[in-house]
Amino acid sequence: MLRIEDALNLVLEQTPEATNNKEEVPLADALGCVLRQDIFSDLDLPPFDRARMDGYAVRSVDIVRATADAPAQLQEIGEAAAGQAFSGFVGVNEAVRIMTGAPVPAGADSVQKIEVISVNDRLVQIYEPTKPLQNITPRGVEAKAGNLILESGAIITPAVAAVLASFGYAMVEVAHRPKLVLLSTGDELVEVWEKPSTAQIRNSNTFSLAGYAQNAGAEVLSAGIVRDDFQETKLAIAEAAMMADVVMLSGGVSMGDYDLVKPALSELGAEIFVEKVAMHPGKPTVFAKLGKTLIFGLPGNPVSVAVAFHLFARPALLKMQGASEWHLPRVMAKAAAKVKGAPPRRSHQPARLVLRNGVVEVEPLKWAGSSDVVAFMQADALIVIPEDRKGYDAGELVEVILLK
Ligand code: AMP
Ligand code: MG
Repeated sequence: MLRIEDALNLVLEQTPEATNNKEEVPLADALGCVLRQDIFSDLDLPPFDRARMDGYAVRSVDIVRATADAPAQLQEIGEAAAGQAFSGFVGVNEAVRIMTGAPVPAGADSVQKIEVISVNDRLVQIYEPTKPLQNITPRGVEAKAGNLILESGAIITPAVAAVLASFGYAMVEVAHRPKLVLLSTGDELVEVWEKPSTAQIRNSNTFSLAGYAQNAGAEVLSAGIVRDDFQETKLAIAEAAMMADVVMLSGGVSMGDYDLVKPALSELGAEIFVEKVAMHPGKPTVFAKLGKTLIFGLPGNPVSVAVAFHLFARPALLKMQGASEWHLPRVMAKAAAKVKGAPPRRSHQPARLVLRNGVVEVEPLKWAGSSDVVAFMQADALIVIPEDRKGYDAGELVEVILLK
């Protein structure tokens, strides 16, 4: 049985890293993809000194003595709105009416908010002084033209997409999404729209795995149920391997009489690198290669499949796309309750982060074992319990993998 690190190394060694893997796509299609170009700002951001408030653009020296009883009196000379600059100059005792987002006119050094101003005809009475730069976001404080903003390898999150949009990246170079075929093995499986009879269950892994894979940038080409039949399993794997970069199976990798994934892989001539990992849940995780296609044989149980996906398949998918980070973030947190380990295997206990007395703690979920989809729905973290630990007590500091 391999240690998790050794199994992961084998997986990553066999995973090609994106080198010339790139294509240009419209920004709107790039969410979730991995950037394959460095991103530079083409302009200062903001591109002009920008008002942060609705009010009046003024010279702070003109209103330095303004009070509630003795307002400063200025002359309104024009207006600046978002998208519409005031082209004149603000001189002594002059003010320009200004809206949030508008360029601050030349001569003014601050914006006073409308709430402390009264206007009568063009006479502007200001009841509070401003400091220079008050309520102004100066040109270029967010980014300067020509700055390196983001390096190749970043994942295009919604926040990253906003940055790309700001700097004019209508088209963006990203890694090809790995093409992935999902096969759920099991005679007991029925489709989601079917009513399971005795001894049957609905296929749920296809839906979790498709989502996890898409979140890791993959394109799911097809997904289906494969019966526990040797020929059918072999054929399904062979067909999938011809069209996909990655084939991901669930189930059929334990020690039962109908666990046919490994024998099918062997007969197809696939090279099997991993067939058991010292972890709980997820021990029977299989990793193989058939030609250039990576094959993950993930355990059938819904929680095991999720854990194994995140530990092994997700890093591989991200590596294939040239991502700069392949692993989920890990943090230390206080255990909110006792949690049991599974020596000599390393355990990953589904858990959720909770706020207790203003402090983040991690609470192991009550689960009925690795088939418990209902409990796992609550999980946003996994508590890592080392192979030599029987468990942790409430209050102990534990390592946590963040799933979201
Ligand atoms: P196996 O590895 O094929 O022995 O499956 C282990 C357990 O996971 C069994 O209880 C299966 O019924 C269950 N299982 C396998 N595939 C799925 C699936 N696609 N959706 C939900 N449960 C599954
Ligand atoms: Mg099975």
